[in-house]
Amino acid sequence: MKWALFGGTFDPIHFGHLRAAQELCALLSLDRVIFIPAPAPPHKTEWKISPFEDRLQMVRLAVSGNPLFSFSDIESQRSGKSYSVDTVRYFLEQAVQSTTLYFITGQDAFNAIVTWREWESLLGLCHFAVMTRPGYENEGLKKILPPDLAAAYRYDEAGDAFESPSGKRVFFRKTTFLDISASDLREKIRQGQSIRYLTPDSVIAYIEEKGLYKSRV
Ligand code: ATP
Repeated sequence: MKWALFGGTFDPIHFGHLRAAQELCALLSLDRVIFIPAPAPPHKTEWKISPFEDRLQMVRLAVSGNPLFSFSDIESQRSGKSYSVDTVRYFLEQAVQSTTLYFITGQDAFNAIVTWREWESLLGLCHFAVMTRPGYENEGLKKILPPDLAAAYRYDEAGDAFESPSGKRVFFRKTTFLDISASDLREKIRQGQSIRYLTPDSVIAYIEEKGLYKSRV
């Protein structure tokens, strides 16, 4: 089984996230993508993040009906800050041994991987599926990792992946990057505009029922 963890603020989840995850399933033969909302990422300070429970419910509604998708509230179960490395370790403990774990990130997030908590350990724990997007030059790992570490990776042409000596791989994959962002959705709602066709109708109904995003704070 190939499982992929897809973390994000998901405030709210939208078709950009869902479409990219769907394409990655086909590109990497994934059996499951697990959407994992983060409690309150430290770098998101420009708006008051919606309650975890609301973001989780919207993710639940958005993934329901897709057998490839599921979700987890694991990051809210830990006290203190939540780090990707802890989440990956948790899933490695939970999953049966034959499960291969992937971690999904956007290219921009992966470019800053060396700033992540225990990033070297993290790269050795699971494969990475990096969604590339137009405008970002993909030059492999050269400009992302320190030179000695980048040089230790070998490029496997057949699998189109960079492989570390430990066998963990980094896959750069081009997915459709729909021009949709959660911040744009929030702004549209605040201005009283429709967000129809940007996120599933069930998510829109939830936002309306709860009155989310009507004001900036
Ligand atoms: P915000 O606008 O509030 O910053 P966002 O729309 O970028 O939010 P996040 O929850 O921060 O959503 O994103 C989670 C992950 O999804 C990130 O890795 C990000 O790169 C990726 N992502 C965001 N928008 C898209 C999109 N339109 N298509 C594909 N991936 C996306």
